[in-house]
Amino acid sequence: MSRIVILGAGISGHTVARYLNQWVGKQHEIVVVSPNARWNWIPSNIWVGVGQMTEEQVTFDLAEVYKKTSVDFRQAKGVSIHPEGDTSDARPFVTVEYTLPAKAGQQERIAYDYLVNATGPKLNFGATEGLGPDHGHTVSVCTASHALEANHQLQQQVEAMKRGEQRTFVIGTGHGTCTCQGAAFEYIYNVDHVLREAGVRDQARIVWISNEYELGDFGMGGVHIERGGYITNGKTFAESLMVERDIEWIVRAHVKKVEAGKIHYETLDGSFHELPFDFSMLIPPFAGVGLKAYDRGGEDITAKVFAPSGFMKVDADYTPRPYAQWSADDWPRTYQSPVYRNLFAVGIAFAPPHLISKPMQSTNGTPINPAPPRTGMPSAAMAIAVAKSLRDMLAGAEKPTHQASMARMGAACVASTGSHLLRGTAATMTVFPVVPDYRTYPEYGRDLHLTFGEIGLAGHWMKSLLHYTFIYQAKMKPGWQLLPD
Ligand SMILES: Cc1cc2nc3c(=O)[nH]c(=O)nc-3n(C[C@H](O)[C@H](O)[C@H](O)COP(=O)(O)OP(=O)(O)OC[C@H]3O[C@@H](n4cnc5c(N)ncnc54)[C@H](O)[C@@H]3O)c2cc1C
Repeated sequence: MSRIVILGAGISGHTVARYLNQWVGKQHEIVVVSPNARWNWIPSNIWVGVGQMTEEQVTFDLAEVYKKTSVDFRQAKGVSIHPEGDTSDARPFVTVEYTLPAKAGQQERIAYDYLVNATGPKLNFGATEGLGPDHGHTVSVCTASHALEANHQLQQQVEAMKRGEQRTFVIGTGHGTCTCQGAAFEYIYNVDHVLREAGVRDQARIVWISNEYELGDFGMGGVHIERGGYITNGKTFAESLMVERDIEWIVRAHVKKVEAGKIHYETLDGSFHELPFDFSMLIPPFAGVGLKAYDRGGEDITAKVFAPSGFMKVDADYTPRPYAQWSADDWPRTYQSPVYRNLFAVGIAFAPPHLISKPMQSTNGTPINPAPPRTGMPSAAMAIAVAKSLRDMLAGAEKPTHQASMARMGAACVASTGSHLLRGTAATMTVFPVVPDYRTYPEYGRDLHLTFGEIGLAGHWMKSLLHYTFIYQAKMKPGWQLLPD
């Protein structure tokens, strides 16, 4: 019997756990280590952030779900990886620290035969002074509890506007190197929608601020889509949406500092600006969660296993090259560590080989370019590929048997632009592949037959359906395997 330890029970880690439980749960031991008691369908936090859903609707108790399976769930966080064991025992192990209230702070060593790092991002609010809900002046929708607080503050603004006051809302990214523009994009439109529904939109100035070179970049170098026989780009699509809804935008911006009611930012041309606000939701930059790694003798090998960003190095080509020489082949396929064959990283936890968008710096040398997104669908696709490879390696395969390169897969994203059964809308976008491949698709880097965008009420219904489908699937209710990931 082998033991597979999965660090992180988010979208990717829980997907690995679900499938391994189904395929090998009876023959092998599956241990899931994750610090939060509750699973969160993060995309629906947007609706918690505007009061359209409750925290309970977007989360559920993980221990309850794993109780029905063979998975051994530990409410704890991974602290360090010891892929060679130590001087007393050569078996690899991971050190975890419990967050379960009854055992809080206790450390334990869990030996493993295979380890999957699915720890997602550290929400690095500390990178920008004054950013974030805990020590700063902006709100967030990155966790369900953050979103709840965001809605609380949003409703206060609505009340003030109902009394006739004017308000400025600033939504976007809180640092020059952020990813996840899509989440902020959804949130700004949902705020716009809520203000319209409340009859106070005319008293609001709504401003988008982001590190994208152009609107619609989304960290993917933008997209081209074919609509009605014409090729249009994501910039036109995104700008049209903003113009239609009277939303102003600032791009090429690095938020340097946030004070109460004032954002300080720098733009690519090297100039510095200030933007007053009453309410601001800015996405923080992401980093790895800070796992350390040690060799058999206790020597720190974190730099060998992880990239400087804290994300784990996998089978990507990390050789630094100029933008013009980037290739689809640089992107990882199996997510196996190049140094330890029984170590994998999936979802946001793996280190991308480089950006997807063109690297940019301001004239002061400040990087202002979006980091590559690793959204839900690719994260789940990687997780399934790794689960399949592990199943086969447990049965004797020498190396990973399945691949899921972001340069060879498509992704669909349904971005809510307002939640309402009849007046809701969402932008439905698909891209293929996620990472442009200019060798295969010389003109636009993507297959335009499989890359499109559309906005409308049907998108909202689809987004709602996805919410209930994914929560049903994640709860591992009967027939979950039949549902798409
Ligand atoms: C507001 C918002 C909206 C979004 N909307 C969409 C959308 O509409 N569509 C879409 O495709 N994507 C969306 N995304 C992106 C999507 O949420 C991510 O792609 C996805 O969650 C990544 O999965 P993951 O498993 O890598 O990370 P996560 O889902 O973040 O999971 C990481 C897990 O690891 C745990 N963990 C952290 N540290 C440790 C540790 N030390 N040890 C063990 N476990 C640890 C965490 O608690 C968590 O359970 C959105 C993101 C945000 C923030």
